[in-house]
Amino acid sequence: MSAQAGPLHSPMLERLGLRSVINASSWLTSLGGSLMAPEVLAAMQDVSRHFVDMAALNRVAGERLAEATGAQAGMVTAGASAALVLQAAACLTGEEYAASVLPDTRPERCEIVIQKAHRNRYDGAWRLGGARLVEIGTARATADWELRGAIGTRTAAVAYVEAPFLGQPLPFERIVEIAHRHQVPVIVDAAAEVPPVGNLRRHIAAGADLVAYSGGKGIGGPQTSGILCGRRDLIEAAWVHGLNYDSPHAGVGRPMKASKESIVGLLVALDLFLARNHAADVQRWRAMAAHVVAALQGVPAVSAWVEEEGRQGPQAIIQLAPPHDGGAVAAALLRGDPPIAIGAGGLRGELFAVMVTLRNGEERIVADRLREVLSRSGSR
Ligand SMILES: *Cc1c(COP(=O)(O)O)cnc(C)c1O
Repeated sequence: MSAQAGPLHSPMLERLGLRSVINASSWLTSLGGSLMAPEVLAAMQDVSRHFVDMAALNRVAGERLAEATGAQAGMVTAGASAALVLQAAACLTGEEYAASVLPDTRPERCEIVIQKAHRNRYDGAWRLGGARLVEIGTARATADWELRGAIGTRTAAVAYVEAPFLGQPLPFERIVEIAHRHQVPVIVDAAAEVPPVGNLRRHIAAGADLVAYSGGKGIGGPQTSGILCGRRDLIEAAWVHGLNYDSPHAGVGRPMKASKESIVGLLVALDLFLARNHAADVQRWRAMAAHVVAALQGVPAVSAWVEEEGRQGPQAIIQLAPPHDGGAVAAALLRGDPPIAIGAGGLRGELFAVMVTLRNGEERIVADRLREVLSRSGSR
């Protein structure tokens, strides 16, 4: 989450025939996740010059992650998705199985119960870890009895997903209560839920058994880093599935190994993130969003305002009336020079300019280009 004003041109990208994009659409994986602070890069460069006992390094990192999340234990993974794979593998097998049972043999206990409303394009990671997903409820609602009825001898875990684009039909506390009554662990995908910083501890405090976060979104670590934290026995089980850098160096987690650079990069990013003045960040984003909104006053068939509730930081919301076409406006911005990526197609078809990934001063470029494109498209 770097706020430094950065160069608009990248010699490296230009050599490859690519252009640096101004990102007004949040910590999107498709745009590179986040920007790493100089301190993060320095730490990565430091360890890049050394060999080290990788198991010991991730053990030490795990202790720091446990401290930061309030969990018993933790480990650095290759992104939140890798953490989800390991969640499934750990809950399916526990510590006692040899790592090699997956993926050839599915243990009897191989089902993960998930609310239909929580199905999303990332949940294949749990299946990759060997699980079969058992859906309960409808797209909008889940009842207690549906969860109780779905838990049986085959249930390895109950999954819970928290994301800006998903509803929460059955409250987390109810899920924990019911699952734990049946001695079934609750696993959580909270990949993009930080900031706010409080979310790093929230699910563990409420009884989650394993929680996954992305290191390369709001925390500002390497894009290929992630956090898995939770119960010590389950972290040990996850460790067996490929993060035990000892012989045989293999298991379903092996293709997702975290590098030494990734591990220390995430730790330093997390320290910086914890030490940040988050209230000042929000204030800065609010002023930046207000600047964009102000620039759009008086443009025909455009209304714009700042919105924060339920969004990743204060955003400039831009509602368009005909003849404007939101998709066409977003596409024009991305084709422009410099290319600007802006959120399009919100719940009400609105455009939304996200501030959290803008570097200082870039809000002025976004505002000017938006005004230019909208003035043109409105007079068509
Ligand atoms: C981004 C995201 C993921 C994947 O995270 P990576 O760190 O990119 O692997 C998983 N789940 C949700 C809800 C996400 O937003």
